[in-house]
Amino acid sequence: MAQVSLQGVSKVYKNGVRAVDNVTLAIENREFMVLVGPSGCGKSTTLRMVAGLEEITEGKIWIAERLINDVPAKDRDIAMVFQNYALYPHMTVYENMSFGLKLKGYPNSEIEKRVGEAAEILGIKKLFARRPRQLSGGERQRVALGRAIVRKPQVFLFDEPLSNLDAKLRVQMRSEIHKLRLRLQATFLYVTHDQTEALTLGDRICVMKDGCVQQCADPMTIYEKPENKFVASFLGTPPISLMDGRIIRKERKFYFDEGKFQVKIVEDMYKHLDKYEGQIVTMGIRAEDIYDKLFVSEASPENTVRAVCEVVEPLGSEVYLYLNSGKNQFIAKVAPYDLPEVNRDMDLVFNMSKVHFFDRETEKTII
Ligand code: ADP
Repeated sequence: MAQVSLQGVSKVYKNGVRAVDNVTLAIENREFMVLVGPSGCGKSTTLRMVAGLEEITEGKIWIAERLINDVPAKDRDIAMVFQNYALYPHMTVYENMSFGLKLKGYPNSEIEKRVGEAAEILGIKKLFARRPRQLSGGERQRVALGRAIVRKPQVFLFDEPLSNLDAKLRVQMRSEIHKLRLRLQATFLYVTHDQTEALTLGDRICVMKDGCVQQCADPMTIYEKPENKFVASFLGTPPISLMDGRIIRKERKFYFDEGKFQVKIVEDMYKHLDKYEGQIVTMGIRAEDIYDKLFVSEASPENTVRAVCEVVEPLGSEVYLYLNSGKNQFIAKVAPYDLPEVNRDMDLVFNMSKVHFFDRETEKTII
């Protein structure tokens, strides 16, 4: 059972930077956990503390129920894959993959078997005799993966392994990592700044900011029920549109008054917004929850917003519309046949059952 647990873990570097601040996180046996967040939020430092490459300033880390704070990296039963591959340039692919096992004193027959198996899985047998400089970026990353696999560790640690690859290869390697994960019975901790990688690979995603965990949940929960404004805006392409406005009540109905438009809030949300009546809150709406009124039947004056379409961005399978209400900008994602004229007013319908409201002070989700 290779559960990885962090309890109250912090890292303060010698220069006083608190890179990781009181992180508590439990990664289940055979779970694929993704640490995601903007550059500098402390993801790599967290991973490096688990790996034993960085001292832990405060807190405790367990791997498979063993407290490993003082266990050297080589004895932690982990394998790490780095962004820069970290292959030995003077060794062939076979030597790179077998080196760790040789150091540990495995017999040649076992080394051959393990390297052969890993190379088979990754489709790199034909590269055995080459040196890293004779490989493409994708091939190098496969060799780095292979070197990790042959060790059969309980825990795999990945530090931005796909960042150096071009966009197309990244997508391909992403699905390979996915397949790999299904074959290897191990626990994964994967660091990335790429929200798509996080959403597609993770059983759970841990979103970090300024060294702190913001939310840790499965991808759909993170996407649909973000706990605060930061999480809502970090995940999603294009990003969620955020706008400030006042909660007002007319008779028994609540509305969000943006200044240029008013939209009616759905009744289920009333109980949460009651105490915000008359106050300014932030409303978030995702691009897929805004429709061109011409193509929907559920339009009513209470969910329709007039805005100028400033930019039309066709992406093949969908179109992004950059809209301006006169006060706020927002983005709609519409069907590829919907190409409205630029710099003209148009009517948009907000799916008000999908909007999010955030407290303006705390930025926490109200609903
Ligand atoms: P991420 O992986 O999310 O980009 P890091 O964990 O690399 O973030 O860094 C977190 C913070 O710690 C950043 O402010 C970074 O500048 C700082 N930091 C990272 N490594 C060191 C170091 N060796 N010495 C001092 N500060 C560091």
